Amino acid sequence: MDRNVLTEICLHQLTLSGVHEGEKVIVLSQGSERLDYADAFLAAGQRLGARMYHMRLPPPLPGNGAWAVGESGLAANPEAVEALKQADMVVDLIFLLFSPEQMAIQAAGARVLTAVEPAPLLARLLPTKELRERVEIGEALLSKAKTMRITSRHGTDVIYRLGVYPTVGEYGYTDQPGRWDHWPAAFVFTGGADDGVDGKIVLAPGDVLLPFNTYVREPVVYTIEKGFVQDIRGGLEAELIKSYMGEFKDPRGMGMSHVGWGLDHRAQWHGLTQFPGGMGMELRSFYGNVMFSTGPNNELGGPNDTACHLDIPMRGCSLFLDDEPIVVDGDIVVKEMQQSQ
Ligand code: FE
Repeated sequence: MDRNVLTEICLHQLTLSGVHEGEKVIVLSQGSERLDYADAFLAAGQRLGARMYHMRLPPPLPGNGAWAVGESGLAANPEAVEALKQADMVVDLIFLLFSPEQMAIQAAGARVLTAVEPAPLLARLLPTKELRERVEIGEALLSKAKTMRITSRHGTDVIYRLGVYPTVGEYGYTDQPGRWDHWPAAFVFTGGADDGVDGKIVLAPGDVLLPFNTYVREPVVYTIEKGFVQDIRGGLEAELIKSYMGEFKDPRGMGMSHVGWGLDHRAQWHGLTQFPGGMGMELRSFYGNVMFSTGPNNELGGPNDTACHLDIPMRGCSLFLDDEPIVVDGDIVVKEMQQSQ
């Protein structure tokens, strides 16, 4: 992407994120990844009068193998973490999500924005205040609900007992101390009680498996009891899911993780075909998707910190909070949360 365009969209991002004169913003990168993003953020922040720094970590040592959440190059570098804790805002170009280092940085009051998706996607899904408002309406509804029920015509019927864990909304920018967000994003989620998820989830053709970055072709049936997956059945994708999960040798990977729905009318379900190497944020965000996840819930304050994590955005589902319809057949039905025309 053209340097000037990249700087302009980073300026839009930092402006929405409330970056202002005198603030200290640290851009965190690793190896030679996204150095163009780092330059663009530095230039944009400078234009807003912020004190900008770039912290560049060495690339990970070879041989660290499979990608897993919760690991970052900061773990062995406490001085770097201390420096990041002194910032007003950290722009994370590495993807620190779920790491204890990121949690410490946020706890010290620094807000954290992750930006790792392909630049054309950052440009297409620029955050807006309007989207934030609709995400916050979703947060308000979700945070007071006691139960969530998800159904589909493919046979999904699962109930999450809520009220134990907080609700999180992601809208792609962050202007509050200690708050994290991810650009791009537009969805809300919470987690069920540790022993409070029961029922069946049936993945249908076209549902999305992240981090595989693939679409389901044959139905996959998850049987869930007391917050844990008991059984996964189906064809090729079911075998791939089980094989992948087995590699972690951690039964806690079968725990039920976050659950919620997407709200960005600009995000495309077919996005993986355009950005096959991305993180799948477009797929987590597309309008009316219902996304469930397996694995850790430490992000929400829960005890499960397994590295085995799948996010699964589904199409055409219905979602009810305390029996009130929120999503029906893949469409948002709460008026204030619907896309503006
Ligand atoms: Fe997730």
